[in-house]
Amino acid sequence: MKAYDYLIVGSGLFGATFAYFAKKAGKKCLVIDKRPHLGGNVYCESIEGINVHKYGAHIFHTSNKKVWDFVNGIVPFNRYTNSPVANYKGKLYNLPFNMNTFYQMWGVTTPDAAKAKIEEQRAEAVKALQGHEPANLEEQALSLVGRDIYEALIKGYTEKQWGRSCTELPAFIIRRLPLRFVFDNNYFNDSYQGIPIGGYNKLIDGLLEGVETRINCDFFAHRAELSALAEKIVYTGQIDEFYDFRFGHLDFRTVSFEQETLDMPNYQGNAVVNYTEREAPYTRVIEHKHFEMFGQTVYDCPKTVVSREYSTEWKPGMEPYYPVNNAKNDQLYQRYKAMADEEKNVVFGGRLAEYKYYDMAPIIERVMEIWELFDF
Ligand code: FAD
Ligand code: UDP
Repeated sequence: MKAYDYLIVGSGLFGATFAYFAKKAGKKCLVIDKRPHLGGNVYCESIEGINVHKYGAHIFHTSNKKVWDFVNGIVPFNRYTNSPVANYKGKLYNLPFNMNTFYQMWGVTTPDAAKAKIEEQRAEAVKALQGHEPANLEEQALSLVGRDIYEALIKGYTEKQWGRSCTELPAFIIRRLPLRFVFDNNYFNDSYQGIPIGGYNKLIDGLLEGVETRINCDFFAHRAELSALAEKIVYTGQIDEFYDFRFGHLDFRTVSFEQETLDMPNYQGNAVVNYTEREAPYTRVIEHKHFEMFGQTVYDCPKTVVSREYSTEWKPGMEPYYPVNNAKNDQLYQRYKAMADEEKNVVFGGRLAEYKYYDMAPIIERVMEIWELFDF
């Protein structure tokens, strides 16, 4: 008999949700994390009474009622609606592209006038394609929305985010640019969205209540001893690291954050402001209090915390954020996955182990599915 049914490597949303269902099924788990805190990328640090999203802004959104009810059963969520604003050379535009944006861009006041303007803008690019499919992101964006929106709101932001020119980026990144002919600044189309009241740590603490955890504990520093403790391993770290990078490193994009506490109650009036011109070195500025403080409560808290986000190329040793799902990496991942599929006692899950960009709700859906499909 081993001490635990499961050793769960990683206390992010995948590991914590897995531990929750395992505990409910009467299983004994040990959750370890190499970081000095639990929660993975949804972890928040409280500064001046503000929950600061340490690994980038996280907004929970889903149309899956089961997932929404589940997370709200752990901690109630607030009514935060993501409505980012774009700052292009000092002028502000609402996102996603909607009637407010079209009014700000061209002064059009009706949906018909906005549609006519977009048709006029697209015409040049559609003609230039001569019936061919757009070969890159620039051609794709120009043929969808035309030059004014592309130049002001897409080109600079996208080139900063991906570190390459829009003519060298694949068209698919921007293939589904939503255009809304209504005055609606809600970024997501999902039925439900919000932030846990009191921050994401409450969600993680609720999921891990009654579960044994160890922080500052790197699986690879004690691999043999830790593995011997449990019947099965749930691994949510990097899949290439699990196999000692034997076929090579999988690539990521990473983000670095410049965080500042300001002696004022309200810096930018919104949680998310995208800086869409190429010349601003950062992509976005996040003002964290607006995720959880609304109306007067913004001013009841005299300080504010902002983070400027810089998107950079990832190198081994840096924090891996976004998988780069191009052909080279997808092939490499398949080699690692073939090895993982042979493992009898290891479950690989989450964004690092599956090398997949996962939003939070699909992570929970996936863990629910695993518990429904398999008899552990
Ligand atoms: P992680 O949270 O990365 O957890 C993995 C954990 O494993 C980490 O804590 C790590 O320290 C630990 N670990 C790794 N290796 C080891 C080891 N060797 N030993 C011990 N521990 C180890 N989703 C949304 O739905 N909405 C958003 O607005 C949103 N914004 C995002 C913004 C950014 C910048 C990023 C990067 C992601 C965003 N996401 C968002 C996605 C969200 O972060 C993920 O869906 C979720 O965090 C994935 O959980 P996970 O458990 O798979 O991974
Ligand atoms: N994008 C853009 N301008 C913006 C915001 C986004 O051109 O102000 C483009 C950019 O190419 C980005 C894509 O839309 O890669 C998706 O952006 P989003 O913020 O929705 O997704 P995330 O960065 O969270 O994956």
